[in-house]
Amino acid sequence: MKTPFFNKLAFIGFYLAVLCLLSVLAFHFPEYLSNPQLRDAYNVDYLRIVLFSSLYLSFGMGLIALLLGRKKGLALAAILVSALATVLGGAAVEVQVPIQQKPIYLSLDLIILDLLVMSILFVPLERIFFLRRQRFLREGLATDLSHYALNHLLMGGVFVLIVWPGNWIHEHVFQNRVPQFTQQMPLGLQVLCILFIADFAQYWIHRYFHKRPRWWQFHKIHHSTLKMDWLASSRLHIGDVIATRAFSYVPIVCLGFSQAAVQLYLPIVAVQALFVHSNVRFHFGPLRYIVTTPLVHHWHHSSDPRALDKNFAVTFSIIDVMFGTFYCPRVWPEAYGLYQERISNRFLRQLVYPFAGQLRRKA
Ligand SMILES: [Zn+2]
Ligand SMILES: [Zn+2]
Repeated sequence: MKTPFFNKLAFIGFYLAVLCLLSVLAFHFPEYLSNPQLRDAYNVDYLRIVLFSSLYLSFGMGLIALLLGRKKGLALAAILVSALATVLGGAAVEVQVPIQQKPIYLSLDLIILDLLVMSILFVPLERIFFLRRQRFLREGLATDLSHYALNHLLMGGVFVLIVWPGNWIHEHVFQNRVPQFTQQMPLGLQVLCILFIADFAQYWIHRYFHKRPRWWQFHKIHHSTLKMDWLASSRLHIGDVIATRAFSYVPIVCLGFSQAAVQLYLPIVAVQALFVHSNVRFHFGPLRYIVTTPLVHHWHHSSDPRALDKNFAVTFSIIDVMFGTFYCPRVWPEAYGLYQERISNRFLRQLVYPFAGQLRRKA
């Protein structure tokens, strides 16, 4: 068997071991490290079985990779991290109920479940239907994973910021009144309406991010990726995430859609956002004029000057068609990234990049 297989094994073992360690910490401190809305939705007993199996699996993968592979350091880290998670109680940590939820918390459980589910969905999909052959451990992978972790982790902490503008407008402008017809619509239609309305709002804030030089410094990070795949979608500056989500949330709350519809909308838009970035060769033909497909969004990330400031919608490309910003030939773009510019691939440098740019201009 070839060495790269054991390198992959070391990486997957380490990745799994880190998720296990984070899960054990979330079991110890659920009031600080788990999301109260999400906690009600999952079965803890199933999670314990998954955690127990994952601990064995990551340890085993690390051991095999250590004996037979070349990435000894990563393999050893997989073994040590899974051992640490086991020493800290593993899947047997008792949770003290009732949980005294803290107002500011980190959504560790969200990141663990999200990463697991999305990896199971997208890794095989990209392996089978790949558009371009890409190395498993591609350049920038660690940076994208770090953005993913930070943006998901802070969801609890910045949630207040995200919902604040929508709630303020709802209370002070509309005096908490909501139109009657939205709640009376069938659930499916409500979800469809939220998808369209939120994408409409997202379209304009996204366009604003491209047009205003100061805002562009934040959004540039998303466009710095040179390889497209499902994880490239998470390369978003935290400032970009907060502004985009807050703006998209305003019409949802002001139109008074039901909680059930909002809960259904969230996973759909999460999968769609990953899908349009993914390294898959599905074409979808003329459907691309209505719904944003991977081909449409890949052109948004293209470094080709003809595609600059095009295809802002993430779900409904018809919004781009309506406002004259649609650009999508039938062929795939040749290269991705910023037009005639490169920015560092390092996570911390990307985080400070928008502020460093302002300092540079002042100097
Ligand atoms: Zn963009
Ligand atoms: Zn994108």
